Amino acid sequence: MTREARRAWLSLGANLGDPVAMLREAVRRIQATEGVTLVAESSLWRTSPVDSFGPEYVNAALALETVLKPMELLAAMQAIENDCGRVRPAGVHNAPRTLDIDILAFEGVTIGDPRLTLPHPRMNERLFVLVPLSEIEPGWKSPAGVPVRELIETVREKDPTQRIERI
Ligand code: ATP
Ligand code: CA
Ligand code: CA
Repeated sequence: MTREARRAWLSLGANLGDPVAMLREAVRRIQATEGVTLVAESSLWRTSPVDSFGPEYVNAALALETVLKPMELLAAMQAIENDCGRVRPAGVHNAPRTLDIDILAFEGVTIGDPRLTLPHPRMNERLFVLVPLSEIEPGWKSPAGVPVRELIETVREKDPTQRIERI
């Protein structure tokens, strides 16, 4: 039996090595993943580290159609992170990284499991997530029904230190 395809949204980030080349490679690998179809791809955005440190980040958002289950999609994305040289230094939260792929949301799914929380619990506090997402999904709303443009305005007011510019 073929599984029904559902929509999922990803946030990509990198701040070590050549982040632009890394994100292009990540998109290529995501597109090549069995059971995944790329539907939309944002521009690349240069951003200041938030809750992290090190050089500036490059971020992007993707929309997918996938027949994978949420946990299967997470495993596939973590395999891409690992293949792209991600190391997770013990005890360092939000360490600089060659590649980070987060699942922002998965159509029709809410999960509170720490291994996979959906929608992503910190997405509404991050311009580096919301701005690329609003580019590919201008009609996006939070689960509480707040339009993405308002979410962006709220972050800009609360945390003016977050910088983001299109590359
Ligand atoms: P943040 O989640 O605040 O962006 P991070 O991306 O730096 O932090 P990681 O070290 O990449 O955090 O991931 C830690 C764990 O988060 C992963 O092992 C994964 O199991 C879990 N996780 C929970 N929810 C999600 C999600 N929606 N997308 C990706 N990973 C998630
Ligand atoms: Ca992340
Ligand atoms: Ca992550």
